[in-house]
Amino acid sequence: MKVAPRFGSGHRVLVTGGAGFVPSHLVDVLVERGCTVVVLDNFVTGSKENVAHLADRPTFTLVEADVSDGLPSHHPALAERFDAILHMASPASPTDFASLPVEILRVGSVATLHLLDRAVADGARFLMASTSEAYGDPLEHPQRETYWGNVNPIGIRSVYDEAKRFSEAATMAYARHRGLDAAIVRIFNTYGPRMRPDDGRAIPTFISQALRGEPLTVHGTGNQTRSICYVDDLVRGILLLLDSTETGPVNCGTEHEMTMRQLAELIVSLSDSSSEVTYVTRSADDPEKRRPDLTRARELLGYEPTVGPEEGLRRTIEHFRQRLG
Ligand code: NAD
Repeated sequence: MKVAPRFGSGHRVLVTGGAGFVPSHLVDVLVERGCTVVVLDNFVTGSKENVAHLADRPTFTLVEADVSDGLPSHHPALAERFDAILHMASPASPTDFASLPVEILRVGSVATLHLLDRAVADGARFLMASTSEAYGDPLEHPQRETYWGNVNPIGIRSVYDEAKRFSEAATMAYARHRGLDAAIVRIFNTYGPRMRPDDGRAIPTFISQALRGEPLTVHGTGNQTRSICYVDDLVRGILLLLDSTETGPVNCGTEHEMTMRQLAELIVSLSDSSSEVTYVTRSADDPEKRRPDLTRARELLGYEPTVGPEEGLRRTIEHFRQRLG
């Protein structure tokens, strides 16, 4: 017998940043489940297009607002109580770290506090989208949730890393002292359709370059590693955590670790491109290695990623091919 998910038909769910890459896929599944979904987004890095296909659904509402300014309570969709609040809003790419530093700090601090207060008032489950960046340039490999990290608190990436660490601390404080039903997911590098081609992250950059026949620009020697996760696998993991009663933090991603050079070569080959792979200056504090230890996600949630890098990259390349014409 199939057990109904904890959050499904009739439940009201608020998703901040829901017009972004990862959150819009999450919203798709929540709407399909029958949840009433309110997305709050200021489109700083997301796009209305990512949720345009949901516009006619009576259970979907898109509210344009900056969540760092608090929740616009005059909006009818925000006046009613929520059963779950997913704080997914934050610019998240390396180019955003340089162009939106204060916005990133605010959405990972002030906005988190606004949403935590609302979740306590509503008696809602609160899910905080944290990141593998909370581990910084890790000295432990692979990274377990028990590792405290190696973050440069004043470096170029610190606005993102430290805001997420603050949000984790705030979420734990509300769980311990205000009775909040909370969950923290530490998301590792995720890719898939709806990424911005120009967002500065390796996969959309390499795919756009390969499809245009331009040289792929690998940072540094290309020996640094990442473990890449197709967005559908990540969304399943986030929903397993949401539906559970676990607080975490729980890592979510895959163990498909590869060097940036291997990734670039794989993308060239899967896109049937004749582009060369070239090497450019590496940005400061770029982590050397990145791979989640998924033991906790497996044991607590039964999480298992299913889409391998070749299949996931093929789907993403196809999406970019159509988008870039
Ligand atoms: P994204 O930029 O596509 O999505 C973020 C969304 O948040 C965008 O729609 C943006 O407009 C919105 N937003 C930002 N600031 C806001 C504000 N102040 N008010 C309202 N809306 C705001 O990025 P993504 O990659 O989909 O990331 C989504 C979440 O997952 C982020 O919290 C990010 O930190 C986290 N995450 C993503 C990855 C990844 O690999 N994609 C890895 C780790 C963590």
